[in-house]
Order: sequence, then structure tokens, then C-alpha cells
Amino acid sequence: MLARAAGPVGARRPPVVPLALVLLAAVGSRGGVPPPAGPIRLIRPPPDSASTAGLARAQLRGESRYVLSGHPTVTLRSREEITLPDASELTVPVELPAALAGRDVRLDASVSARDPAVPANTLSDLRSGARLTISAAPLVKRSGAAGNRALVLPLSPALRTRQALLTVIARPLPSAAVERFETNEADIPAGARLVFGYGVEEPGWGDGWPPVRVRVSAGELTLFERRIDPAADPRARRWFDASVDLDPLAGRRVRLVFETEALGAAPGATVDRSFGVVSNPEIVTAAASPPGARNVVLVSLDTLRARSVSAYGCPRATTPTFDRRVAAAGALVRSAVAPVPFTPPSHMTMLTGLEPCAHGVMGLHETLAPDRTTLAEALRAAGYQTAAFTEDAYLVAGNGFDRGFDVYRENRSEESASPGFADETFADASAWLAAHGERPFFLFVHTYQVHEPYTPPRGYALLFRDGDQGDQNQRALANYEREVRYTDDVLADFLGVLDAHGLAERTILIVTSDHGEGFGEHFWSGHGFDLHDEALLVPLAVRAPGLVPAGRVVEEQVGLVDLTPTVLDLVGLPPLPDVQGHSFGRLLTGRGATFEEQPVVSTALTKSESVRTRRSAYITTPKGELFYDLVADPFETRDRLGKDPAGVKTARAVLEAAHRTCDAWRQAHPPAAAPAGTPGAEPGWLINREEIERKLRSLGYVH
Ligand SMILES: [Zn+2]
Repeated sequence: MLARAAGPVGARRPPVVPLALVLLAAVGSRGGVPPPAGPIRLIRPPPDSASTAGLARAQLRGESRYVLSGHPTVTLRSREEITLPDASELTVPVELPAALAGRDVRLDASVSARDPAVPANTLSDLRSGARLTISAAPLVKRSGAAGNRALVLPLSPALRTRQALLTVIARPLPSAAVERFETNEADIPAGARLVFGYGVEEPGWGDGWPPVRVRVSAGELTLFERRIDPAADPRARRWFDASVDLDPLAGRRVRLVFETEALGAAPGATVDRSFGVVSNPEIVTAAASPPGARNVVLVSLDTLRARSVSAYGCPRATTPTFDRRVAAAGALVRSAVAPVPFTPPSHMTMLTGLEPCAHGVMGLHETLAPDRTTLAEALRAAGYQTAAFTEDAYLVAGNGFDRGFDVYRENRSEESASPGFADETFADASAWLAAHGERPFFLFVHTYQVHEPYTPPRGYALLFRDGDQGDQNQRALANYEREVRYTDDVLADFLGVLDAHGLAERTILIVTSDHGEGFGEHFWSGHGFDLHDEALLVPLAVRAPGLVPAGRVVEEQVGLVDLTPTVLDLVGLPPLPDVQGHSFGRLLTGRGATFEEQPVVSTALTKSESVRTRRSAYITTPKGELFYDLVADPFETRDRLGKDPAGVKTARAVLEAAHRTCDAWRQAHPPAAAPAGTPGAEPGWLINREEIERKLRSLGYVH
């Protein structure tokens, strides 16, 4: 933790918080290699907490990072329905709440209206963009200025008198031109470096905003100084990264001082405050990276059903890279089951080891409670660098998916959620690897590439031509599997980057998915609503040279809920407290605690539920029950509800027990309220849910 002083250099010394090395619990480790000893992190949870939920973040160009101090927004009016006037402009008077009295504030307003030039409401029309967003020129309201101010939005004739949604946001400005942060005293070892990022948040990119000086010092010694000017130079509208040699301070006990200063006297600058930020400062030493510590790479290929992966029996050659370079080089898990065939709850389960009833993130509008711990938080606290590269739509940073990630990057699209940008997303992840592979890391990569719309690159349209002769579902499946092949080829390039940087031998690589996809096998297409195997079974392979023998096949059934405990087990860290999943590390390595195979209970958005074992599947829906013998009938074509009363009775009992367990867990773990000032507690913070909903609507998700 850093103490913070807002104010010029030489201001009253702030209260200081002890700065200490992140010490690891002395835990056993597989293969005798300890997990990494931590760097000195200057942004971390308070000593009595593991949760990063209260730490400030800032987002620049879709990339969110922990910062010494962010500049959170206050939403004054959120998507308020209004009728636009029959006039050339809309005037929005702004009255600031008492909490902002006495502050200098930047004000922004926007209206979003259906585009009158787009007449219909069909999927293709929506994809081409059916909403218009108009923004007012921002205002800076000074605390001493008299009266209330108004924002003015220009209205084209076509928009007048139409219905629209109005949003007004206030961003308090720093109270002085210089924002200053000072660490407690720390001993600087020989060979240490200070690594950190810096930049200016987007509100500081517009006309009138000043250049920003970023300075790091210790006593009289200036260690680093840069001036960036994103208002004048678009190339500066991004994160910058710095690595500073601390040898001049070796053996000394010093306080480090970070400053961002608005250079308000620069030509053309009319504001003397800045939105400058400093991200993820760490003091790194060679000792922070013991040789042999294993990295973790978790790849989630959203919507990839096991059935369409050749290692799982797909007759088409969809996944040569997954088959040969991941599964055959490590372990293939034959039955891995999603908890919900839907992106947010399934990923949150994957990343926490908690069932959906425990983590509660079922869609776009729930945020992970601050006292639930994520895999990334556990690995970050153990000294790993943590980064996530994902795509537009459901893995919303502010809903808790960014928790524990030093870097959380979302590749966004203009109009449609989840068209898939596998090449870009993996390229971003590769670039990050190239810059960070020297120290132990946890990297999460997520792409929507194989998700609907099924739009393989043109060269891939020549594959699997047999599918073109079939019905609509078969043609869709052929396009889907072409995209699977394309994504597998992108994965091949990514694995090549791991090889090129010498990382493959000391990296635990996991490739999986959050759920499958239906193509009319059981009347449903897509996912979310049905619980047959095409929706629930996902590929899962773990490659870890020296840890997981090549060619291992795991026949036991596991759930995605077991993934987080397994990763922590493989890197030699203790399990998270009160986690619901169980490590299946022993099935991969042959060592460690026994894994007890359990039926997996899953839930659909329709409130249907299922109980799956390796041998049977029970599904209960609002329309009735189904029961399948998966050994004799792996494609679930013959309902045996009336023919196996004992099996059905057992499955019903498992489901009831799961409900009781869930209720008991929730009662024992009431979610803590978000701490004051938590980004996730503020609706405007990092989340433009309206924008995301609009895009999801374009996929037929939200009606
Ligand atoms: Zn998904």
C-alpha cells in the first residue's frame, strides 16, 4: 500500500503504511520448485485482506491496470429516458450532489437514440449499428464558480422529438496540479529495478488539457522523468512502460516519490489539472524469479464444444494443434463439464473455483463480491505477474473479471459483441509475453472467435465442404468448425511464441472453453438454454513438461469449478479458503491428494438443471425430465426416464443435495458490501452497460 498525498511536493508528509516484501507461505511444491518469491509490489491489498476489489484501476484504450490513484467517475444521470426537444440543441442543466461540493469537476453528457436511418430491427440491421450517440462538449466547473452550469448537445433534425437515453457523468479533478505518492522507507537491494506504467486517462486527451510530467524520485535524486501530451499527440493516448535501474540507491533505505504534474502553463492549455496515472509499480530483484518456477497460461476458446474438437472424436480435422501440441504433449480430460452454458457464470466459476450460486455473477449486472477470491488474486499475491487478454462483451472488467490482473485488456468492436478477434487478442497476449516472460506470470487469454456469428476467414471456407450439402444446422456447423480450425491455427502461432521465448518447458498451459454450442441436436441452437452434452462438455487439456506426462488421458469427469484448485495445486500454492472445486492434479501428475469423482450439477438460463456423471445424464426442464444412458447412447437420443427409476431417483437426490449445499454455503458466506470508493460500486466506472447490451442485442442475446 502506498500512502498518498495530493498536493505539491513538500506538502505535509502523509501517514505511511508499512511496506514489506510479499512473503509466501511456506508450502510444499511439486517437483521441488518453489513458486516465485514476490517482487515488492507498491499496490496491494491491505494487510488484513487478500481482496484487490478496493484497489484503484484506470483504463486506457481498453486496457485496465492497477494505479496509485485513479480518477473515478460519479454518474449523475444514468440512461434516463427522455424525449429530445424539437430544437437544434438539448440543454442539460447540471446540479452537483453535495458530495461533490467544493470540488473542481469535469462534466460530460451523452444521449443515445435509435438511428432513424436504420428502419428495421433485424439482426443484420442491428449489426450495422442502429443507435447514435451524441456527446456534449465537456465542461469544467470550478468549485468557487457561481451558479449551476449546463451541458449542450447538438441535435440533427432527424433526431428531434425522438426518444433517447441520457447519461451525465461527473469526474472530480485532482485538488492540485501535482498528485504525489510516497512509499514508506524500503531497503533497496543490489541489482533492483523499478518497473511501472504511466499514462493519462481519456478525459485528459481533449482540447485544452495540459501535457503531464511524470516524475519518480528518492530524496534529491530524480530517477525518472517524462512529459507526455495526449491532448496534442494521439500517439501518447496509451499506456507507457518504464524500467528504471535502482543501482544508484543500492544498499540505501529510501522513500520513493511518484508525481504526476499538469503543465498548465503549456501553450494552449486551459486546464491546470491532469488525469495522469501511474500503474503497477514494483521493485523487482533477480531473487524474485527463482529458476524453474512455472508460469501458467489459461486459454479459453469461448463456445468451443468438445464434440467439435478432433481429439474428442470430431471427424473433421478441426484441431491439429490442440490435439498434438497440447493434449498429446500433456493430458487430455475426456469429460469436463460447464456449470452453466453461458459465458459470465461459467468463466467466473473457472476463475474462482466457486459454483455460480456462490460467486453470483450470472450476467451483465452482477459484480463479484469483494471477499470472494480469484485465481488471479491468489497468483498475484504469490508474486506472479498477471495479465488477461479478452474481447468485447461479457467478461466485463468492472464485474470482477479484472480482479487480480495487473493488466486486463478487452479488444472491443464498434458494433457487434463477440465477432471474435482471435488473431489480435493472441497477438496482444504474445506481445505481453515477449515483454514479461522473464519473471513468473499468469496469463489468461479469451477469444469469442468460434462464437456466433460463424464467419471463418475466406481461406477457411474451402474446408469441410461436405457440410455445404446439408440443412441449415449442418451448414452452420460446417462454418463453426471452419472457425474452430482457424482458431486452432491462431493457437499454433501463439504456442510458437511460447517456444521462441523459451517458455514452453516451464509453463503450465491449459486450453479449455466455457461451454459448448448446439446445432439443433435437441431442438436448440446456440447455447444458454439447453443442458445436453453439446452445450455442457468442453475440451480440456493440460500441458506441463516435467509435471504432466505426455499422452495421459483422464477418464474421470471433472467440472470447470475444479480448474482453479488444480492450477494452485500444480504450482504448489495452498487452496483458496472455502473453495468449492477440488484439485484433480493427481489425475494429471500421478501425485498429490486423491480426486473424488463427483456428479456435476449444471444450470441453464431457462432454470433447467442437470446432473451429469460419466455414465448418465439427468435433465429437468420446465417441460419435464429426461434421462440418458451415456455409455450406450453418447449422443443422448433415447430418453430412459421411465426405464431407469433407480438412476433417476439418484440423480434427483444429487440435485436436491446440491441445492441444500448451495443454500448452506451462501448462508455461511454472506457477500461483503463493496468498500466505499470501490470502482465496481460506481455504475459509471469502466462499464458502459448500455453499449454492451446494444452489442449483445445484436447477437440476439438481450431482448
Ligand atoms: Zn461463452
